[in-house]
Amino acid sequence: MKNNLETSIADCHPASVPDYAPLAELRALQLRRLQAVVTRAWQNVEHFRNRLNERGITPENIRSIEDIAKLPFTLKSDLRDTYPFGLFASPMKDVVRLHASSGTTGKPIVVSYTKEDIDVWTSVLVRSFAGCGLHHGDILQNAYGYGLFTGGLGAHYGAEALGAAVVPTSGGNADRQIMLMKDFGVTAICCTPTYFLHLIDRAAELGVDFKELPLRAGVFGAEPWTESMRRHIENKSNVEAFDIYGLSEIIGPGVGCECRRHQGLHIFEDHFYPEIVDPETGEPLPDGSEGELVLTTLSKQAMPMIRYRTRDITLILTGQCPCGRTMRRIGRIGRRSDDMLIIRGVNVFPSQVESVLLEIEGTLPNYQIILTREQGLDQMEVQVEVTPHMFNDKIGALQGLQGRIQAALDHVLGIRVRVALVEAHSLARSEGKAKRVTDRRTS
Ligand SMILES: [Zn+2]
Repeated sequence: MKNNLETSIADCHPASVPDYAPLAELRALQLRRLQAVVTRAWQNVEHFRNRLNERGITPENIRSIEDIAKLPFTLKSDLRDTYPFGLFASPMKDVVRLHASSGTTGKPIVVSYTKEDIDVWTSVLVRSFAGCGLHHGDILQNAYGYGLFTGGLGAHYGAEALGAAVVPTSGGNADRQIMLMKDFGVTAICCTPTYFLHLIDRAAELGVDFKELPLRAGVFGAEPWTESMRRHIENKSNVEAFDIYGLSEIIGPGVGCECRRHQGLHIFEDHFYPEIVDPETGEPLPDGSEGELVLTTLSKQAMPMIRYRTRDITLILTGQCPCGRTMRRIGRIGRRSDDMLIIRGVNVFPSQVESVLLEIEGTLPNYQIILTREQGLDQMEVQVEVTPHMFNDKIGALQGLQGRIQAALDHVLGIRVRVALVEAHSLARSEGKAKRVTDRRTS
């Protein structure tokens, strides 16, 4: 890495102090906030009040943090069913911001913020960035999309509050991104990991080597990515790659973020209470067990989320991070239960394919999974871009590569897949979240 100086978070911003709160203090704060947020939702959100009534419970039943398990889950469908403002706990006169997800089917998800919510959001991003070693004086290029998507504006205000100079490029226009990065001496970037890979590739074509730029940190999120992808990014760019986590339903980016130890993502649990549940039964699981992440907003005013099912599969790591923060950590999210493909009865995640490809020399981390059904049988084809010199090589080398990928995928996935090698840059590039799977199966 270009800069290995450990930056003390306490030097960066007073808002960072809760990261090191003594555990007993933190748990007491969480309980007080949980009681307050449940009361607030009960008083102001009819949908939530009805749910508690069905279970015969009231906010007074929450006497310990463990009592959270008595509360009903909130699902994405609850946001859709109450579109647009049905889950708001604040009158519109107190709302200062509305965001909405790009709904691929039907109505989008709408989320709202009061002034206090925006302040909390900003503070957790300050803590995220500070944990990545960013500070005032940094020049941060923010290539998350600005607009209804929470990524752009969330990161923007956090970086400004930290004292960094923000270059609000938003997504798209790779050539201009690279020019500004070089001309402005950008030191940090925010975007999806896929988009950063695209920038690395494009820069190479333009004769710009990221390793020679002052760029030293990348804060990547908004899509699941793997440890192999981190190594690939770091090798190609000399940028220290951080994983940031968030979702609009909870607040946007900044629910959790890695510190410089890169041993999981600290959840800012003074504001977002994490639980892991069995994705099938909904039963709470102890720290250290893998399951679905469920989050409760402890301080949200405009739109409290109680036990929101994220569909992200991870675990809460046990033990304390060597960085000294007391905030618990989750493992990096490589998969979502929504992403799971069922192929001939076998569960397959796109992240498994990505990990395999990144371990094999000669392939590029650009791939597509095409699913079809032939004579009643599911077929999975993985199209993989290979480096230009592979294609210039003898045909035997390509066949050898294809065989190695085939064998590795068969081994990891436990099913037979087809592998098609394609030339570099022949697969569509995404400007934001990567779309890896095309499902052409018709039932
Ligand atoms: Zn840490």
